[in-house]
Amino acid sequence: MNRERLYRAEGIVIRRSDFGEADRILTLFTRGQGKLRVLAKGIKKTKSRKSGHLELFIHAQLLIARGRSMDIVTQAEAIQVFLPLRSDLRRTAYAYYVAELIDKFTEEGTESPGLFELLLDTLKQLAENPQLETIAHYFELHLLDSLGYRPELYRCVNCGRPIEEGSFSASGGGLVGPECASVLGEYRPGRRISAGALAALRLLLASSYAICASLNPTPEERRDMETALSDTLAYLLEGELKSLSLLTALRRETLSASVESPQSLRVK
Ligand SMILES: [Zn+2]
Repeated sequence: MNRERLYRAEGIVIRRSDFGEADRILTLFTRGQGKLRVLAKGIKKTKSRKSGHLELFIHAQLLIARGRSMDIVTQAEAIQVFLPLRSDLRRTAYAYYVAELIDKFTEEGTESPGLFELLLDTLKQLAENPQLETIAHYFELHLLDSLGYRPELYRCVNCGRPIEEGSFSASGGGLVGPECASVLGEYRPGRRISAGALAALRLLLASSYAICASLNPTPEERRDMETALSDTLAYLLEGELKSLSLLTALRRETLSASVESPQSLRVK
């Protein structure tokens, strides 16, 4: 094969779909080339050497050949396999959600090393740590930030006045103070956000992943954080995410469990 037709890519498998009897189309998010759709030939055959290196959410080094209609994976070697993301239902649901957000918010072939690092860090956290919900919120905030939609968490989006308490408007992109709640103009008034949830969001946006382990929000704060972020994402994407229904069901389950036995929430 002509060497110029081959290129290397370091990527994460964010989606897989069947293609014919033996092949799969993979959507990769790569460090140097952004999102790529590639064909993995023969990957569904049991003796395929590549298949174990190209499971969902795997971080791999790939050798890819340029094809006429679609590029083709010729070699794959896993760097990190993140096994818990495929064996533990709750972790799987979060990994699907994170991968779907990356897929929805990015175009093919647009390089974004910052997003690649964020995705890689997030999958590692989701595979290793128990604070899945907080990790997801950290990811959502930093995703929004790197896409240019950093939520305004300090000032009223309408008048600019610094505020400590108010509502969160998804269409306005952040906080709205009580003085502006009735004169919002183009923005829809948001829902009230508790001071604790606001403080937690500020901390997540300003910190590294290490902070997630120390946050321990109350059920009310958890609901407020979830509402503010999922409303913002739904507003920007103009629709629901496929992976969100499973995640919401899992969250409701843990929230109601924590109401029945409050101490269970404190267990880390
Ligand atoms: Zn205002």
